[in-house]
Amino acid sequence: MATPRAARVPSAPRHLVLILGDQLDPASAAFDGFDPAVDVIWMAEAREESTHVWSHLARSALFLAAMRHFRDAQRAQGRVVLYRELDAADHTGTLAGELAAAVRALRPQRLVVVEPGEWRVAEALRQTARACTVSLEVRPDRHFLCSRETFAAHAAARRQLRLEFFYREMRRWHRVLMEGGAPAGGAWNFDAANRESFGRAGPGRVPPPRGFAPDAVTREVLGLVQRQLTGHPGRLDRFDWPVTPAEAGAALEDFIVHRLPLFGRYQDALWTGEPWLYHSRLSAALNLKLLDPRRVLAAAEAAWRRAGHAPLAAVEGFIRQILGWREYVRGVYHLFMPEYRERNALGADRPLPRFYWTGETDMNCLREVIGQTLALGYAHHIQRLMVTGLFALLLGVRPQEVHAWYLAVYVDAVEWVELPNTLGMSQYADGGVMASKPYIASGRYLQRMSNYCAGCRYDPALAVGPRACPFTTLYWDFLQRHECRLRPHPRLGMQLRNLARLGAAERAAIRLQARAVAAACTS
Ligand code: FAD
Ligand code: SF4
Repeated sequence: MATPRAARVPSAPRHLVLILGDQLDPASAAFDGFDPAVDVIWMAEAREESTHVWSHLARSALFLAAMRHFRDAQRAQGRVVLYRELDAADHTGTLAGELAAAVRALRPQRLVVVEPGEWRVAEALRQTARACTVSLEVRPDRHFLCSRETFAAHAAARRQLRLEFFYREMRRWHRVLMEGGAPAGGAWNFDAANRESFGRAGPGRVPPPRGFAPDAVTREVLGLVQRQLTGHPGRLDRFDWPVTPAEAGAALEDFIVHRLPLFGRYQDALWTGEPWLYHSRLSAALNLKLLDPRRVLAAAEAAWRRAGHAPLAAVEGFIRQILGWREYVRGVYHLFMPEYRERNALGADRPLPRFYWTGETDMNCLREVIGQTLALGYAHHIQRLMVTGLFALLLGVRPQEVHAWYLAVYVDAVEWVELPNTLGMSQYADGGVMASKPYIASGRYLQRMSNYCAGCRYDPALAVGPRACPFTTLYWDFLQRHECRLRPHPRLGMQLRNLARLGAAERAAIRLQARAVAAACTS
């Protein structure tokens, strides 16, 4: 692609500044000391990033559209951006191949990059630099509020990692929702006021999130992705994600004004045909670094403090996700990779059911959530954790297959956040690093929190028989299979006491039915 005339490519540049697809932050440390007379920015689209897991079309399109907007904004500042497009005739298909070719052609003195979020990419860059005998300077990622070193020190000081302790430290360190040395409102957690269901009446009218019509740059990407990635899951006809910092800022404003006040109250609720409910839809913009989490935290806190617009319970619930969970999972990822990816504490060994890629199942909850995921590249947290994740956990699917699915199908999926959520929180495959106990429930939970069961051929109260809900059957089967391992968990006491009430015949019938469910799912 041609560069503007004013921006001539310096011969043998001092720094080749690498900007990866999830590093689209104009204030990134990669630009510290950037001198346009001698430094060059390098970016590359690569087919491998869409095929190493079989990515949703919208996920690929979002990355490429945001990258191209970032390229254009940098060029508008008079900087040289060398940019490789996905369909370039001589494209090697990989980030490493493209970088090696660029280094051979340009002979830069040094490569500069902000620490990649994904272990695989960091390794590929290190190996390429070594093979090309060029030095690689890796700078810290200032986007996050907790550095990898700080998290490692936090972990080293404890026998066991727990979100709650980390979150409280983060509130104190960053002075978020604090009053002197105490938490605002006198408590760290307001969950008792949050997490309601909608009841029979349903959610009523929920303010729809602001969407962003694709401009010419994005439309070109949508066409490219449709042509180049045939056979990939998902659709592009409803693509309206923010792809620039300005759009991400507008999406934040929209959330704060229209949905934050009810965020906490309905955080765990699910409803047919309502993908967004009161969620922020900001994860992709945050993960691509179009949005600074400090700005998000400040806007949420101000909505309570200055405007009194949102109740403290909603604001605390939301801040816990950004300042707590988001930073925590990143810490866990970097602390335990690469061996973390291979963990399988429960010895799960079944394949992922094929319907995860099509949505074609008679289980209404799964059909709704997978259908929505394929249409939009989005599902909210409880849909991910307590529908698709719960079913895979109860069925006993190999965690690495579950991981590959989650990394493929969501527009916000990047490995540092997806892997601990999937393998740790959802599948309990890390044996309790992320979550103190497995998130397990029967179909009754979904009946309470959603209206999915009302439109289903199964009955969530039944574990055996032709109308038995597969979630309920597999829940009791899971408890039986893992009874010994789960017994020491005080928080599972009631579930195990209920299991103990089942007679031998009931247990055997459940085991038999669970085997039939598994056979039907994996045939
Ligand atoms: P909201 O519900 O509005 O939450 C606000 C923000 O908090 C999110 O935008 C996100 O940045 C952060 N957040 C909330 N929960 C978490 C969490 N558990 N971990 C980290 N950050 C959190 N999130 C991703 O960003 N990328 C992923 O690939 C991803 N994979 C997941 C896989 C599984 C199995 C599960 C259970 C969760 C996963 N999450 C992932 C976390 C969470 O589901 C999404 O961040 C959230 O649904 C995104 O929608 P939202 O922006 O509307 O979030
Ligand atoms: Fe899902 Fe079971 Fe409810 Fe059907 S009855 S929607 S399978 S939880």
